Amino acid sequence: MKKNWMVSLAVAGLMMGCSSAQGDEASAKVERIPEVEELLAQMTVEEKVGQMAQLTVDVLTVGEDAFSTTEPLRLDEEMTRKALVEYGVGSVLNTAGNRARTLEEWHTIISQLQDVAMNESRLGIPVLYGVDAIHGTTYTAGATFFPQQIGQAASWNRELVRRGGEVTAYETRASGIPWNFSPVLDMGRDPRFPRMWETFGEDVYLASQLGIEIVKGYEGDDNDVSDPTRVAACLKHYLGYGTPLSGKDRTPALIPEIELRERHLPAFEAAIEAGAHTIMVNSGLINGVPVHASYQMLTELLKDELGFTGLVVTDWNDINNLHNRDRVAKDAKEAVKMAINAGIDMSMIPYSLDFCDYLVELVNDGEVPMARIDDAVRRILNTKHKLGLFETPVTHYEDYPLFGSEAFTDDAHKMAQESMTLLKNEDQVLPLPKDARILVTGPNANSMRALNGGWSYTWQGNNIDDFTADYSTILDAITAKVGANRVVFREGVRYDNAASYWVDEAYDIAGAVRAAASVDYIVLALGENTYTEKPGDLHDLTLSENQLALAQALARTRKPMILVLNQGRPRIIRSIEPLMKGVINAYLPGNYGGLAVADVLFGDVNPSGKLPFTYPLYANSLVTYDHKPSEHQARMSGVYDYESDFAIQYAFGHGLSYTTFEYSNLSLSNTELGKDGKIDVSVTVTNTGELEGKEVVQLYTSDMYASITPDVRRLRAFDKINLKPGEEKTLTFSLTPADISFINEGNSRVTESGEFEVHVAELSAKFNYTE
Ligand code: BGC
Repeated sequence: MKKNWMVSLAVAGLMMGCSSAQGDEASAKVERIPEVEELLAQMTVEEKVGQMAQLTVDVLTVGEDAFSTTEPLRLDEEMTRKALVEYGVGSVLNTAGNRARTLEEWHTIISQLQDVAMNESRLGIPVLYGVDAIHGTTYTAGATFFPQQIGQAASWNRELVRRGGEVTAYETRASGIPWNFSPVLDMGRDPRFPRMWETFGEDVYLASQLGIEIVKGYEGDDNDVSDPTRVAACLKHYLGYGTPLSGKDRTPALIPEIELRERHLPAFEAAIEAGAHTIMVNSGLINGVPVHASYQMLTELLKDELGFTGLVVTDWNDINNLHNRDRVAKDAKEAVKMAINAGIDMSMIPYSLDFCDYLVELVNDGEVPMARIDDAVRRILNTKHKLGLFETPVTHYEDYPLFGSEAFTDDAHKMAQESMTLLKNEDQVLPLPKDARILVTGPNANSMRALNGGWSYTWQGNNIDDFTADYSTILDAITAKVGANRVVFREGVRYDNAASYWVDEAYDIAGAVRAAASVDYIVLALGENTYTEKPGDLHDLTLSENQLALAQALARTRKPMILVLNQGRPRIIRSIEPLMKGVINAYLPGNYGGLAVADVLFGDVNPSGKLPFTYPLYANSLVTYDHKPSEHQARMSGVYDYESDFAIQYAFGHGLSYTTFEYSNLSLSNTELGKDGKIDVSVTVTNTGELEGKEVVQLYTSDMYASITPDVRRLRAFDKINLKPGEEKTLTFSLTPADISFINEGNSRVTESGEFEVHVAELSAKFNYTE
């Protein structure tokens, strides 16, 4: 049953009356596990509420206050007992002191927490520990770091994305942690957003497909997370996070239901279908309503309509934010009532125990129904049970011999290689000869920090260098390929890490220009330093002035220049792009990114990445490939020379190779598609060049006319194939009516009769759909 839930703007606290019946519907679907039911039957209100609370670990460790941890890391026994025994807190998150820990440290701290929870509390319920292991096990020293999600998306390689999930799950469990706040299934449709790089990019289908793979990588084919090499995935940030109006994190978004259902919901829907156990809520507001207070979003849509039976956790401090920041709750207690009645199961509090006191009072006063509490606690205990925590509350690193192994490292290196996206290669300047003399320059040329991005060893990635001495920067990797005598390094511009790691200073542009005189090529690595969330908010998407100045000064030397972009979002490069012979987008490729850049620069790897977003040309013309026809209008010359065309730097799906591929024989099994039918679309791809290479074959459809204006085209299928020189392969994709459906004006998913076009590369064909 689908309700027109956006019509009503009521938030949960104001609509207690109608909430319980629908809430019961959701609750009825949640699995009844006998052991959990037995436990639930014995629990007091206080114990139930405790399970719904999540604290950050700093609160439980010795430090000056709840916000800090003193080294060496030690549990604050009194506070731990208060939280885990007196309050029965059910979950802990994060790393202590905002720094990565050794496997031993993780084992010690989590074992100690579990000992207290299981041996000293009345019912002996284990703690559910969660971290953000978003491109590898973020907070464990020696873990294998993959490219960030945006780079993974650029690989368009389902298998590698799944493999990355598997390795991360293994290494997270090796650290004693069973719950991972990943993947991000928000859409990367606004390059200004500081978390764009945490997404799989702008396309709904690509994000859904890769979302399924990463969830299966984390949880296993059958989602049996009691397997000690798997973790519970946490889909985030449900729903519509990532496209606020201002482009800035946690600022208001206006998203009509039709758009939410068309572009934001499908990736979550697919991942829920794939069995993901938990979900985290969007910290922002949509249409004026904080998602944490939205009964319609959390209970009606997520739990009732999508049938999500897992655990719903808030984002950081977001129940308090209903009062402090968003002002829909008059005080902190009302905020708790709103959020829990809306459908929140667990609060990432994360610093105080007030949440528990308020919620116990609210239950006792009948303001929050006991049925709602039971539903939340059942979802939490089911998750703990499924993870096998009652039997094995902490896994031991000695049982994980593959942690940081060469096999894992190879997977991460391969993913980094396949993410490299060759955007421009004028006169076949690339690959570079290995006997050339090269100037390596730019603030990102010798930085492990910039290669990794945020969520690497710390939240903001600010002490990456303490952990990465054994890995190669772009400079190290180039030097290893061609020999130190052929490489000159001048940074030219550097990030001012002391002042603010955002700012960059032009301290040696002249030195870089002088050094260019003696070389054959310039490799210029530009982009961004690390950031995530609010600290990554931007006023201007254009690449910083100092970096542009470096590029312009170097261009005057007339040496052929290769631009390597190492950045989390596509910064505007319009003014310097024409100065470049070659451009490679490296995104945030992780610890093996330096090697992967050099592999591609010198032709040891044939690039095969494709852009998972539209690279903008102008900061004021942020467009996506799946736009409406009116977003691309011909320019009129003369005084009417308005700027109405679809002006972009590089297209979604674009990426060059060192070989050439020819597409032929696009054929449809039928030109008529019926309600229960399917059409097979075949196409032949031939490697017509001289090198072996991988190609991403992309199938798009266009709906010619529809009851709402159709997007110009939509990605419906893709596959990545490998072809030897001269080799050809014929691929067949199936299209069903569901594949060409859309959300109509009534917010329902429909497929309308009419004419459709199929596009693969430059080829196209037509078919009709009749209901
Ligand atoms: C972020 C989440 C993250 C959580 C826990 C929040 O600030 O928005 O993505 O999972 O912190 O670290």
